[in-house]
Amino acid sequence: MINYHTTVETLKKLLGSENVAEKVSMSLHSSFKVGGIAEIIIFPSTTEDIVSSIDTVKRNNIPFTVIGNGSNIVVSDDGYKGVIIKLCKNLNKIEFRNNEVFCQAGALLSTIANKAAQNTLTGMEFAAGIPGTVGGAVAMNAGAYGGEMKNIVKYARCLDNEGNVITLLNSELQFGYRKSIIQKENYIVLDVVISLLSGDKASIINYMDELASKRREKQPLNMPSAGSVFKRPEGHYAGKLIQDCGLRGYSIGGAQISDKHCGFIVNTGTATANDIVNLIKHTQKTVYEKYGVILEQEVKLIGF
Ligand SMILES: Cc1cc2nc3c(=O)[nH]c(=O)nc-3n(C[C@H](O)[C@H](O)[C@H](O)COP(=O)(O)OP(=O)(O)OC[C@H]3O[C@@H](n4cnc5c(N)ncnc54)[C@H](O)[C@@H]3O)c2cc1C
Repeated sequence: MINYHTTVETLKKLLGSENVAEKVSMSLHSSFKVGGIAEIIIFPSTTEDIVSSIDTVKRNNIPFTVIGNGSNIVVSDDGYKGVIIKLCKNLNKIEFRNNEVFCQAGALLSTIANKAAQNTLTGMEFAAGIPGTVGGAVAMNAGAYGGEMKNIVKYARCLDNEGNVITLLNSELQFGYRKSIIQKENYIVLDVVISLLSGDKASIINYMDELASKRREKQPLNMPSAGSVFKRPEGHYAGKLIQDCGLRGYSIGGAQISDKHCGFIVNTGTATANDIVNLIKHTQKTVYEKYGVILEQEVKLIGF
């Protein structure tokens, strides 16, 4: 039986009691708006906070998981028996240095992209509509409309499993389609330097507006989701395969294959994490049986 009480007290001393919460519904921290109770959630403000918190939870044999803005996760209905380390608004400094942008892990892509536009820097437009943090985006090599983090990250400072701060250059981040070394090695992104090019402010803003209207037209942005649930299988589009299987609008409980974009699963209001996971499995099975294509899940499951 884990004793959370002493851990909570230590974490409060380290981070300030306002940055530590107990028994928090993860539905409040996931864009899907599902998930049970996390025993503890913390909101570190510095690298030292992260290092000392992890040291504390490890010493107490408590599992931990890092999240950013929660826009690509499904947390179990049973919650998370451990510490969620949320790197978001307490760690969101953004600084421009000529054509480079220094961003703490919790800075939102939308904020960075909009500030880049104001600074007449181009290259970040693709990311303006992705509702994640830059830390989560590096971990996932997030991308859209022909752009991806791989194209703009110069280097990232990360925490390795021994608590060392390491600097990984773009070539060392092992970026692939929706993957990077961060996930493979369980590193934590602390901050990122993005390299952009000088551009024309009006063209940058026009392009961002164009992409935003494409998203509004094609994606169910008015419903809770985690964006595309599946990775794009080689030679196919997940959404098209799902549609061709007749699954548009198909529901399990409150989870539904969006009728606007079949690559999205949406929460129609009453979805549980189980509904979503069951719908993911059903979709994978149906597409495999009909087309022999394996749909690999892009969203990350926590606490299952
Ligand atoms: C409406 C909508 C549209 C979307 N469109 C796109 C899109 O066009 N392209 C795209 O790629 N994605 C898209 N997504 C998915 C999502 O926004 C991205 O994957 C985003 O990069 C996730 O960032 P996050 O901060 O929310 O990460 P989270 O969801 O909090 O976490 C995702 C994963 O990253 C890890 N992680 C988070 N922060 C860190 C960190 N600092 N260090 C190490 N690991 C970390 C977590 O452990 C987890 O495994 C969309 C989602 C929604 C809801």
